[in-house]
Amino acid sequence: MNEIADPRIWVTPDKPQEFKLLIDGALESGSSGEWIERSSPAHRAAVSRYPRAGEADAERAVAAAKRAFDDGAWPRLAGAERARILLRVADLIREHRRELALIEALEGGKPVSSVEGEIDVSIDLWEYAASLARHCYGDTYDSLGDKTMGLVLRQPIGVVAMITPWNFPLLILSQKLPFALAVGCTAVIKPSELTSGTALRLGELLLEAGLPGGVANILAGSGSSLGSLLCKHPDVAMVSFTGSTAVGKTISHYAADTLKRLSLELGGKAAQIVFEDADLDAAADKVAFGILHNAGQCCVSGTRLLVQRSIAERFSKTVADLMKSVPFGDPLDPRVKVGPVISRQQYDTITSYIEAGKQEGATLVLGGAANEERNGVAGYFVEPTVFADVAPSMRIAQEEIFGPVLSVIPFDTIADAIRIANGTIYGLATGVWTSNVDTAFQCAREIRSGTVEINTYIAGAAELPLVGHRQSGVGHEKGRFAVEEFTELKTVQFQFGPLKDRWVPRS
Ligand code: NDP
Repeated sequence: MNEIADPRIWVTPDKPQEFKLLIDGALESGSSGEWIERSSPAHRAAVSRYPRAGEADAERAVAAAKRAFDDGAWPRLAGAERARILLRVADLIREHRRELALIEALEGGKPVSSVEGEIDVSIDLWEYAASLARHCYGDTYDSLGDKTMGLVLRQPIGVVAMITPWNFPLLILSQKLPFALAVGCTAVIKPSELTSGTALRLGELLLEAGLPGGVANILAGSGSSLGSLLCKHPDVAMVSFTGSTAVGKTISHYAADTLKRLSLELGGKAAQIVFEDADLDAAADKVAFGILHNAGQCCVSGTRLLVQRSIAERFSKTVADLMKSVPFGDPLDPRVKVGPVISRQQYDTITSYIEAGKQEGATLVLGGAANEERNGVAGYFVEPTVFADVAPSMRIAQEEIFGPVLSVIPFDTIADAIRIANGTIYGLATGVWTSNVDTAFQCAREIRSGTVEINTYIAGAAELPLVGHRQSGVGHEKGRFAVEEFTELKTVQFQFGPLKDRWVPRS
């Protein structure tokens, strides 16, 4: 039997799983005495408990990371040594793949049909980052004149605070942590309060892999208290944040006082552009996937379908039919591909956007309903939804909804498509479907988003950077450029042999 199809593994637990914080190399319950309890958004069963880190815990974690950076072995190890530990972590994640996948399925309401694949992507990121540990280098100048030489060193920036969202907990942390560790940084991590389980469990695996104490510290707590403390802390050199554009802006203010480096991976309003000459069957499938994967709760969710007017009606109907037939319901059922959304708050946000779409005059052609129960499973279920006749200026075409709601916008020419695609405050990802190479290149060049995918969508690779243009972010993650993200340059200039010139005139 295919293991993933074995229903006995994918069940809610009798009692919530308890996790520990990782501070200075020790697993502990923190000092606050308080616990955060997480209920599954699909079954409303209590599935996880995390100790809530207090201010004193955060201070100890930052101090440990600072000590590990200033005086510890980690930044001074050979890249090859660091790589070996990162590879051990990758092996341990692989060994615990099923367990980690179950934690994410329960805490996030993620379909078990996709969750193991996300763990695999995380493993790949750790393995790729390990290769970069041996390729972190600067530059040399032997062209500066006689007996002069310049070295440009590339050095780890220091303690990095990492703050992550709930939608891809281990995967997004794996876009940050192994890359920062690879170049010799140390870290204090705060995952989302809703889905902290895999980050905390990773803490145990880091210790098992031999990561020295203090190099990575993992805390649980809210953004407004713990997160803000880390972003303001004078001993934190950099904040690497993934989350909403609104919180990203707040964090920029926090970080301004101490001029920290910021890496902000923020929201999006991705378009998928479908030209009449495209492979329409493939395009329709990926449009459905692009909006329904993780119930539309991806930063790169293809929430706007820009479709050439000549095929708009036929193509939108094909997409709506596919979306209607996608198995939707209990995420622990291996056949299901679309589960509930993460929380009551998110459910309310999405339903309010569905109302806004109706009020603004868009035509609802699929879904639109939301229910707190589906086939006997209690949860926050929002039906796959499609609006047609959407004007680019409508709120549903401008604002990030973060749910399974697709807005169809017809266009006439390439120039129209590019203008509409670029016509939001965001610039994260765009899909382009065409068989015309000229169209493909023009779109790739002129679309103002950090990623443009041609005839595919949400493919990605560890080698390829994730970049947010405009209000989708600052900086980049993954790829070899991640080395730049977590390092800073230092100029060292040598004069060898006796110095000939004297500044002060001598008699
Ligand atoms: P939020 O911005 O609400 O939260 C993200 C993280 O920030 C959480 O850990 C949260 O803590 C923390 N946080 C909240 N307020 C503060 C604060 N004042 N100071 C410091 N930290 C704070 O985002 P969501 O978790 O709701 O995630 C969804 C968003 O993330 C979407 O906008 C999505 O587009 C974006 N995203 C972007 C990606 C990218 O690569 N560009 C990838 C994935 C998601 P807590 O919630 O525990 O209180």
